[in-house]
Amino acid sequence: MVSRIIPVEDFDLVIFGATGDLARRKILPGLYRRFVAGQIQDSARIIGAARTDQNDAAFREEASAAIREFAPSAVDEAALASFLKLLSYVTIDARGTAGWDRLKSEMRPGVTAAFYFSVAPALFGDIAERLASNGITHDDSRIVVEKPFGRDLASAKALNKMLARYFHEGQIYRIDHYLGKETVQNLMAVRFANILFEPLWNAQYVDHVQITVAETVGVGGRGEYYDHSGAIRDMVQNHMMQLLCLIAMEPPYHFDPDAVRDEKLKVIRALDPLKPGDIVRGQYLAGPDGPGYLDDVENAESRTESFVALKLTIANWRWTGTPFYLRTGKRLRARTSEIVVTFKEPPHSIFDEAEAPKANQLVIKLQPNEGMHLTVMIKEPGPGGMRLVQVPLDMSFADALGQEGSDMPDAYERLIMDVIRGNQTLFMRGDEVEAAWAWTDPIISDWEAAPTRPEPYDAGSSGPEEALRLLHRDDRRWREIRA
Ligand code: NAP
Repeated sequence: MVSRIIPVEDFDLVIFGATGDLARRKILPGLYRRFVAGQIQDSARIIGAARTDQNDAAFREEASAAIREFAPSAVDEAALASFLKLLSYVTIDARGTAGWDRLKSEMRPGVTAAFYFSVAPALFGDIAERLASNGITHDDSRIVVEKPFGRDLASAKALNKMLARYFHEGQIYRIDHYLGKETVQNLMAVRFANILFEPLWNAQYVDHVQITVAETVGVGGRGEYYDHSGAIRDMVQNHMMQLLCLIAMEPPYHFDPDAVRDEKLKVIRALDPLKPGDIVRGQYLAGPDGPGYLDDVENAESRTESFVALKLTIANWRWTGTPFYLRTGKRLRARTSEIVVTFKEPPHSIFDEAEAPKANQLVIKLQPNEGMHLTVMIKEPGPGGMRLVQVPLDMSFADALGQEGSDMPDAYERLIMDVIRGNQTLFMRGDEVEAAWAWTDPIISDWEAAPTRPEPYDAGSSGPEEALRLLHRDDRRWREIRA
């Protein structure tokens, strides 16, 4: 199946923080791949901005090196040379006064304008204020802001309030790159474009849901940042909460940004407060791949969690009685992100006890190989009588979509194209972010007030034993963490 490429309108995109890690690894290579795919026209302009004093040629050189490193399979010399012509650079200190006039003169009137804040959140206010006071932005300009969006409810509210001084909500694109993944969007297609699942999508037929985001790496060079954050802030409040919303939300009346986000918001607001026994925190120990968490963050007293497992319940008609188990952590057995919807077993088995059917599971894999599969029971082939076997109905996107499928756009590419198209469906609204923090805040403050430490777990394991018990006590098991 060949995917259709629909070029986006002409645009001017300014990347603040164009010399940084995110721009080099994701934004510039992503834009290049969209250019090669024919989605970005030759007339588009991409303007880098940061404090590093360099000219257009030096920035193009830097962008070329980043693209060769992070999108090597897409490199075509002629296409790369054409893409680099779209690039220019303005030296700007977000806290200074120089460079803003030059930036203004680079912007073309009447052309869609977007500003990507790929800088530390502490600079968002400086940039927003200067863009507005220098008359660079107008009512239709869009701004893209990166995570973390606050570190608690108060700071997220302050950030929203500050941005609202200069931009209305329709201009603000809060990125959560999990929402840009093909499978995440497919989840909405599978749920709302088929009749098969929706009648079963409730507490009567769904036994429980598991969401796992497992990493094999430790905190690496991000130790200081991570130690002030931890798994709940870094993963649960944003990415995992978004996945939970897409699984649990009611069908929106239309596939429209606010209709979708209204339904997601209702899920967050319906979350029961977490019970103290329904959370397990962990810290990885030293292993063959590196030191333990405490050494990694150089803080022997740290109580920050590198692993968390939670049992959530949603207080509404659809989900009362179906628990949602979330777990995420570093230095685990394998790198994987997946959602597993486990249905209930048939109410009565007509087969012998040894052949009792197992529950169907819908497994939605976000990484490493995006795809979905549904486990179903069939008769084991052959003349051995009626023996049942569980097999997956597989829908690996790379196979289903052929060549195009294996070369699917990265989440960032897709989201940046959505910014240009003016489509906010896959971006978090201010009230959603605040609601997620309102639910998360008490969990964090209760923990900070408690004298306990996170449970240690072996590097390369599935996390602390207590996390296994979180499910065992409910007579359930985690799906094995595997790539
Ligand atoms: P980074 O590597 O530290 O880059 C920061 C960028 O900001 C650099 O281009 C830097 O360039 C620029 N900058 C710093 N101070 C500035 C100032 N006063 N005025 C103008 N530019 C300034 O950070 P990053 O990893 O790219 O992250 C950028 C943002 O994305 C952060 O909010 C981060 O939390 C978020 N994020 C990053 C990742 C990732 O994978 N890297 C993932 C998710 C979210 P100069 O030094 O030349 O000014």
